[in-house]
Amino acid sequence: MTGIPQTHPRYHSLIARENIVEGVNKGITSMQGLVAQGRGECFDYLLGERTVPSALLAEKIASALLLLADRPVISVNGNTSALVPEKMVELASVTGASLEVNLFHRTEERVSRIISHLESFGATRVLGARGDGRLGLEHARAIVDQEGIYSADVVLVPLEDGDRCQKLVEMGKTVIAIDLNPFSRTSKTATLTIVDNVNRAMANMISYSRQLGNCSHGELEEIAGDFDNATFLREAVGELMENLKNQ
Ligand code: ATP
Repeated sequence: MTGIPQTHPRYHSLIARENIVEGVNKGITSMQGLVAQGRGECFDYLLGERTVPSALLAEKIASALLLLADRPVISVNGNTSALVPEKMVELASVTGASLEVNLFHRTEERVSRIISHLESFGATRVLGARGDGRLGLEHARAIVDQEGIYSADVVLVPLEDGDRCQKLVEMGKTVIAIDLNPFSRTSKTATLTIVDNVNRAMANMISYSRQLGNCSHGELEEIAGDFDNATFLREAVGELMENLKNQ
């Protein structure tokens, strides 16, 4: 790690870059992951590198959805395993969700490296190596575990690609996406999209899940309630435009 001072105005963003580059060097993140991070950074910059109010509400609803689920799964890819490994392990533990590795640029070696990486942060069981289920897509993200994503009712997909998101929705699953780009196919297709940086989103979801942990089923259902994903996307775009106007 380079010595980035905590007082640097863009400290968190620079640390995220360092983590992604380190992920590539360790063989857990793909080179393409660097590009995806760049696209995310751009939208984060436009949003003011903060959690906008509509994203915070989406994070609360998402936490309730995970707690209500019978078979919740958190999907892990090369970028999230470099950026937020400990947060994914913690969120899985607080909500009772399974972790499953699912990669666009899949190699068995990379899957097992990511599993070991998550285990080094305390994960006890990470799915994804078996790959005995298929989603009906023409790329490697079709490969899932039968007992994990294939049979999940709620799937959290931080940094997803649009095709797979759509497929999961078509299969009747509740799909929660975390994506800084409110215009992406993923954002538009997911059941609920959190337009926020995965780092901030996961931290907020851990704290909401802890707070809501003692709520009754009925109370959680009230929080999850009826929501319209398009409203969250519109509000994120509104925040972005407002931010631009104020420059
Ligand atoms: P789609 O198929 O949904 O249109 P895409 O091709 O734009 O997606 P991918 O490269 O598959 O996107 O995935 C990267 C997505 O993740 C981008 O939309 C990007 O904005 C978002 N992203 C990247 N880094 C982060 C991050 N740290 N936090 C949140 N979102 C991020």
